[in-house]
Parts: sequence; structure tokens; C-alpha cells
Amino acid sequence: MDVRRRLPSKPAASDRNPAPSPVRVQASDALPLPIRHTNKIFSALFMAALYFLMCRWREKVRTSTPLHLLTLSEIFAFVSLVASLIYLISFFGITYVQSSIPSNEDEIDEGVVVDDRRFPPTSSAQSANPPPPPCPLLVDNANAKIPSFYPDDNDEEIVSSVVSGKTPSYILESKLGDCQRAAGVRREALRRITGSAMQGLPLQGFDYQSILGQCCEMPIGYVSLPVGIAGPLSLDGRTYYLPMATTEGCLVASTNRGCKAISVSGGAESVVLRDGMTRAPVVRFGSAKRAAQLKFFLEDPSNSDTLTVVFNRSSRFARLQGIQCALAGKNVYMRFSCSTGDAMGMNMVSKGVQNVLDYLQDDFPDMEVISISGNFCSDKKPAAVNWIEGRGKSVVCEAIIKEEVVMKVLKTSVPALVELNTLKNLAGSAVAGALGGFNAHASNIVSAIFIATGQDPAQNVESSHCITMMEAVNEGKDLHISVTMPSIEVGTVGGGTQLAAQAACLDLLGVKGANLESPGANSRLLATIIAGAVLAGELSLMSALAAGQLVKSHMKYNRSSRDISQVAAAAATKNH
Ligand code: ADP
Repeated sequence: MDVRRRLPSKPAASDRNPAPSPVRVQASDALPLPIRHTNKIFSALFMAALYFLMCRWREKVRTSTPLHLLTLSEIFAFVSLVASLIYLISFFGITYVQSSIPSNEDEIDEGVVVDDRRFPPTSSAQSANPPPPPCPLLVDNANAKIPSFYPDDNDEEIVSSVVSGKTPSYILESKLGDCQRAAGVRREALRRITGSAMQGLPLQGFDYQSILGQCCEMPIGYVSLPVGIAGPLSLDGRTYYLPMATTEGCLVASTNRGCKAISVSGGAESVVLRDGMTRAPVVRFGSAKRAAQLKFFLEDPSNSDTLTVVFNRSSRFARLQGIQCALAGKNVYMRFSCSTGDAMGMNMVSKGVQNVLDYLQDDFPDMEVISISGNFCSDKKPAAVNWIEGRGKSVVCEAIIKEEVVMKVLKTSVPALVELNTLKNLAGSAVAGALGGFNAHASNIVSAIFIATGQDPAQNVESSHCITMMEAVNEGKDLHISVTMPSIEVGTVGGGTQLAAQAACLDLLGVKGANLESPGANSRLLATIIAGAVLAGELSLMSALAAGQLVKSHMKYNRSSRDISQVAAAAATKNH
């Protein structure tokens, strides 16, 4: 059966179910009058004929007239009685039968009937829910288009099979061989199971093939996010326009103002201090002494070449840099660090680590591998090891902002900024016991660019580690500002970077894909751009705070002001 038949289209000769409405087909549908009129007419006819015949029957009994002798009026009344009786039985009787024995029609037109039988509601509130509307992607309005991923009648069968649990949702892509269609079928099955059509979640307009086996399993749609552009940012002699995917009002405008202040002051400069992704497995021995022997083995320079060769077999881009060991009793945590070309590198480093673990089993057969990741890595969790040792790209970025720019663009003064930075980003964060959080809002900028460029947003945790420093220079007139970020974890190949929208944002920055001449140059450049954007964000927000614009900004721009010409001065203060 075909869900398309719910579309309010004209019945075609080939349509197996020409009725577009989800209302049941009833006997009364054949009548030319509205149902409320035909019901009244036939009820009245029935009553009148019955009354007339009863009167005639009584009269005949009283006058001893044979009952089978019928006059013309009696014949007419009898026919009317039978006809109206047939109508009333067919109307009310069929309706009753339809309601008590759900047919295949029910399964199509009233998904909740199917749901109620196969998926009993868990609460009374749920059972009280009205039947869900048809999926808006299948039938929405007069302009609704038939989704191209519903090409034939077999989809109803597969949807029902997923709803009943006979077909696991996760095999739809391989079973149908069509990712778009699989997403549509899964979405429709979900609607029938939950009653939620998720009308706001788009389904069409996305290449589901591009995420298969790479970015997301069991897709039912995609979340669309606005992408704003801040810039130009003048960094290391080049200019960049920064794509920022965010729903945080003021953020792009704030960063834009910081970019302007940096650019008119002559630009920012950056240095990549270190580039190495880490992975730290945990292994266990029978004694702490044996655990210590492994640590000494791994740290012995004479073993370094062999371990490097074994590790580097994982990829032509993986290059082992070092192994840092920590013990906890009988357990050893080995933090492998390696360069990974333009990939963020988690897969690459994990493969290299597995190679080394396999190799070590020969010399340490009593070594029990507990996990390829023992949290000394440390991935997607706040950890001092990343803050101190670095993970991914460690970058420092600086700029000197001229006094007049501080006053005219940032609407504050150099001494006010320096004092605020000391009291807020340094002392304040120390009071708070911060771990890598010696900044105003680095994570705002990092997250927005991460999402726009297809990075792993969960790595925002350590990628946003940042210490912001400010100092008066040039005889106290100008401002020196820097951000030091030890663990920016980014890549320009792999993961979400190959998706069309994200690749377009990387392309805008000139860092899309692999750098063929110098592997790793693109991902390092991306890290410096992110540090430059953070520098701009820090400058703008700190200036707004120093100028006391926080409350003003909140009041103005959290009230849906559409005038962004004034945003620059006040926007920065929202997110801190
Ligand atoms: P990650 O290690 O970040 O999870 P993936 O393993 O998903 O990344 O993607 C890296 C893949 O891209 C590897 O197969 C690697 O061989 C390939 N690749 C191609 N060019 C490069 C490059 N310049 N730098 C790193 N990897 C590259």
C-alpha cells in the first residue's frame, strides 16, 4: 500500500484508493445529499411507514379484514419501511463493524490504531493523544510534493514492518539500497510509533548517502543551523572570513567587532607550538613491579625506533612523537602522541596504539589490555593533562591593539581592559578553581566554528582551554592581547568535514581537505584561524564588559532587535 494516496490529489483511474480523505468509506457516501440530511429523511420515512402500517394492522384486526390483502398505500408504506431499514442498518451497522474490527484501511489511515495495538501506550496521557496527523513530508498541503524517496508501493509494507519490529530500523539503508528512502521510511515508522510527526525537522534537502557509515546512524532528518560570518580577520598577513554556526544572539556580531579592531590595528599573528593527537590505553599486570618494567621499557630510548616503526604502520600520516607513562598501582597508562596530517586523528592514533599493544604482548605476555582508552588521553573531558601537555594543536595568537582603536571601536580604555583581564580571567578564574578556563568565552567561538566546519563538537571541552593575557605596551598606550590554547583538536579530512555544508565553510577559509604539498598544513592553519577568532571574541567581550555594557546589551539584543548596526558595541557582552 502506498502512503502517497493520502495526498489530496485528484483520483486517477489507476489509483487503488481514490478517496484522498482519511475518513472511512461508508454506505452513505453513495448518496447525493449530505449525510446529516439523508439520515433524517430515512429515519422519518422509517417512523412514518412503521406508524402507518401499525395503524392499518390494528384497523384490519378490528374489522376482521385478512392481513395479506394489501392496498396500494400499504404496499408503498411496506416498501418504504424496508428501504429505510436497509439504509439505517447499512449506515449504523457498517460503522459499528468497521470500528470494532480494524482492517488494513485502518492501518494506513489511522496510524494510532496500529500503534495502540502493537505498542501499548505507557501512560494514560499518551493513550489520550489524538491520532497523529499524517507525516507533513508525505502530505502537508496543496503544495506538498511527493517525496522522491517513496518511489513505489512497497514502502507501506516496509514501514509497517519497521513499526511492528520485524525489520530493524538500522538495516534500512542496506536493505533498501537508498539512503534517502531509508530515512523517509524510518521517519514515517517513528511517526506511527510515537505519534510525533516532528513537523519542524526537515527531511528532504540533505544527502544522506554522505553520512552513511561515517557521521550519523539511523537518520530521520537534520537540524538546520544559521551560519553567520564574522570578519575579515587579519591574521599572519592574510584575511579570513569566519563561518560561525550558532543560535546564540550577539556572538557573530561581537566576534565581528573584535575582528575589526584587530584588522585596523595591523592584524594578529599566531604560532603553532605543537601538533600531536593522543591516545592512552590502560593495561594491567599482576604486580606494580611488572607495571613499572613496562614503563621503563617504553621510555628506554633504545626501544624508541622499533616502537615508532610499529606505530607508524597504521597510516602514512601517523608519526609517533612520544609515549608518556603513568602508573596507578599495577595499572599502566601509556599516553601515545602522534602527528596525524590533516586529520583530527583519533582513528589514526588508535590504530597505531593497537599495533603497539599487539607488539608488546610478545615481551609482556602477562600484560592484560583493559581498554584502548584509559582516559589519560584525555578525550572530551576536562583534564589537566591536556591543559599542561597539550592535545591536538597548541597555538598562541597575539595582537597589539592601538589606543585609538580601543577607544573608538571597542569604546573602552587600555587600563580598564588590562585591569579587568587580571581580575576576571586570571584572578577570578583562579578563585573559581578553573581548569583551562582563564578566558572570557573562548568556547563560544570554538563551538561555533567547530560546528560550521564539521569538527567534533564534543571536543570543544578541551579545545576551548585558553588563557587570555592583556598588557599595556608602547609606553602604556596600546594593548597587547594574546590567547594561548594548548589543545585545539581539529582536522580538515575525515569525520564531518567532508559533508557539503561543512566543506563549503572549510573552503571559505582555504583549508578544505588534505594539503597535498604539506600534510597537516591545512589542519594547523584551521587551528590558528580558530585561535585568531577567539582573540577577536575575547577582545570584544572584554571591552564590552569593561565599558559596562553588559546589561544594556542583554536588554537590547535579547529582545529581538533587528537593528544590527549597533550590535558591535554591545553584542559581545551576552556570552561570558
Ligand atoms: P580521524 O583519524 O581524524 O578520525 P579519519 O581516519 O576519519 O580521521 O580520516 C583520515 C583519513 O584520511 C585516513 O584514511 C587518511 O589516510 C586520509 N588522509 C588523506 N589525506 C590526509 C592528510 N593529508 N592527512 C591526514 N589524513 C589524510
